[in-house]
Amino acid sequence: MPIDATLPYDDQNVFAKILRGEIPSKRVYEDDHAVAFHDIAPVAPVHILVIPRGPYVSWDDFSARASDAEIAGFVRAIGHVAREHGLVAPGYRLLANIGGDAGQEVPHLHVHLFGGRPLGPMLA
Ligand code: 5GP
Repeated sequence: MPIDATLPYDDQNVFAKILRGEIPSKRVYEDDHAVAFHDIAPVAPVHILVIPRGPYVSWDDFSARASDAEIAGFVRAIGHVAREHGLVAPGYRLLANIGGDAGQEVPHLHVHLFGGRPLGPMLA
C-alpha cells in the first residue's frame, strides 16, 4: 500500500528496523549519515537502496529538516555506491518514490540505485 508521506515518522517501518539491525539486510555501505543495502526484490542486476540514518519520510521533509552534513553525507553515499559497483561508465538510474502518487511503500526516505543492464526509457 502506498503511504501518506505527510504522516509523522513511524519508527516501526521496515527500514528503521534494518537500521537498528532488528531485521537482516545485505549492506554494501554505511557511514555516519547513510546506509546502503540490496533491495529484497531486485528489478535490475544492481538494485540498491540508499537511506539516510535520520527519521525522514520524504525528500521535502529531509531537505527541510536535515542538517547540511546529513544531506551531504546522503548524496555522497549514493555516489560512492555507484562508483564502488562499477556503474559510472555504463551508467545507472536513481529513483525516489515520494508519497502515494509515486507508490512509496516504505515510509523512510530511500533512493533506488539501478544498474547493470540498459534500463530503458524513463516513463514518468
Ligand atoms: P518504494 O516503493 O517505497 O520506493 O520501494 C520500497 C522498496 O523496498 C521495494 O523495492 C522493496 O522491494 C524494498 N523492500 C521492502 N521491504 C524490504 C526489506 O525488508 N528488505 C529490503 N532489503 N528491501 C525491502
